[in-house]
Amino acid sequence: AQRPRLLHELPDRGAARAPDAEALVCGGARLTWSDLRSRADLLRGALRTAGVDRGGRVAVVGRNGLACLETVLAAAGAGAATAILNWRLAPPELAHVIADSGATVLFADAAVLDAVRTALGTLDAPPRLVVTGDGAGPADGAGPADGAETYAALLDPAEPLAARDDLDPDDTCVILYTSGTTGSPKGAELTHRGLLEQSAALLAVLSMGPADRSVAVLPFFHVGGVCYAVTALLAGAPTVVLREATPEAMCAAVADGATHLLLVPAMLPGILAAGPDAVAAFGRLRYCLYGASPMPLPVLRRALALFPGIRFLQLYGMTELSGAATALAPEAHRDPAHAHRLASAGRPMPGVEARVVDPATRAELPPGRRGELWIRSPGRMKGYLGNPAATAETVTDDGWLRTGDLARIDEDGYVFVEDRLKDLIITGGENVCPAEVERVLVEHPAVVEAAVIGVPDEKWGETVRAVLVTADGVPVDPAELRAFCRERLAGFKCPTSVGTVAALPRNATGKIDKNALRAAVARPDAASVG
Ligand code: ATP
Ligand code: MG
Repeated sequence: AQRPRLLHELPDRGAARAPDAEALVCGGARLTWSDLRSRADLLRGALRTAGVDRGGRVAVVGRNGLACLETVLAAAGAGAATAILNWRLAPPELAHVIADSGATVLFADAAVLDAVRTALGTLDAPPRLVVTGDGAGPADGAGPADGAETYAALLDPAEPLAARDDLDPDDTCVILYTSGTTGSPKGAELTHRGLLEQSAALLAVLSMGPADRSVAVLPFFHVGGVCYAVTALLAGAPTVVLREATPEAMCAAVADGATHLLLVPAMLPGILAAGPDAVAAFGRLRYCLYGASPMPLPVLRRALALFPGIRFLQLYGMTELSGAATALAPEAHRDPAHAHRLASAGRPMPGVEARVVDPATRAELPPGRRGELWIRSPGRMKGYLGNPAATAETVTDDGWLRTGDLARIDEDGYVFVEDRLKDLIITGGENVCPAEVERVLVEHPAVVEAAVIGVPDEKWGETVRAVLVTADGVPVDPAELRAFCRERLAGFKCPTSVGTVAALPRNATGKIDKNALRAAVARPDAASVG
């Protein structure tokens, strides 16, 4: 079959192939491929009536549900883009991204309505608010009784509208904000071509088809949420959308026949600890994809041992690339002859080029040397929405994306992502890669999780601080920990101070919030931690 060029062709293809087969499931709501196509057409008609046409924008905010994917498909066929917003943002942050997205219609999950209303109240020209149902999906029509327009009421009088036939694969169809790990989130404009090429590349490194069943675990506002959902649509595989990705819900979905899912490393310990029945159920998974932040090796080794039948696949990617740039194949996870590769993010995906450059001179570095990772990929964003200056800083004239990550590439093309450039610690003129220290710390038997940051120091400029989560919260003896590190790391890399916390601050997708850790150290009461 011909490759689809435009996102909204996915339900059309599914409906042509297997109209009555399941496409999307969420709670009690089930949509066949033909349902999905007709609901997208209907919503497109409603959007047209609401003035959304080619070049227009809508936004979606809320927990994962069917309305988000329906909206993306409906808007795409109208030539409009859907901004998928992080529902965990505080009202002022939400107001900022709603205004930044330029959306004229905002679909908000009933569960987050209070924050959304507060945000909208601060805007001069707020978008039209439509309330989507919670739990059973969009069809339940449940909405607040206070006169807010509901999704069901919007669709009810609508006439179906087919997709426009003058659309360009390079049009923006999804706007995703970066996770805001290193600064404030930026809106990346993703295109039909970028999303579909990226999905096709992923399907070239794993097997997924109509006989499989995928679980959408990550929030749709994250690249690993919505882009992975697009991949399953392209594969023709039905998707179970989880409202909330608890370990129990994930294990239950697998017990129910799911074969594929994509999670973030922070979710794996919860699954490993979920109890024998849940673990046995999870072990029937065919593929477990993971990525979005570094995977602690001890956790990965435990998972590989506990789940001998699962094919683990690591992805390294980012919002700006519509998904993954490199993949560590399942075979590489279990190859004893190349065990060191387990610490790598694998090799560039089909169609993707990777190079490491000297961040100062931009000269390409030979294999083995550490520098900034640059990626050239068909999944690359068009640019940051309304921010040509940031785009020009990030994308080179010849199409390379500067990832802001430190990495090295070995002789066989395996990419080892070491850390973020911005997190590099410079102590007494020496560079310390926090991730390298973290990898050593988590090998200590008493350490469950570790984060390493640079803190200001009069003598050294910066000094290395470790913040740990320990087994049962018992502090580790600092002298003993220092000795442990000293056996494995150069002296200047060893932490000079250690704090113990109950939990590390993390964002919605489990990334450690190092800015929050640094801010905590800067507060006057911080001395008490360690
Ligand atoms: P911001 O750009 O706003 O600071 P962010 O970079 O965290 O936030 P994302 O696009 O969600 O936003 O994340 C991409 C980043 O996540 C990558 O640049 C990299 O640092 C990290 N990352 C992704 N996959 C992996 C992986 N497999 N291993 C290590 N790090 C990863
Ligand atoms: Mg980033």
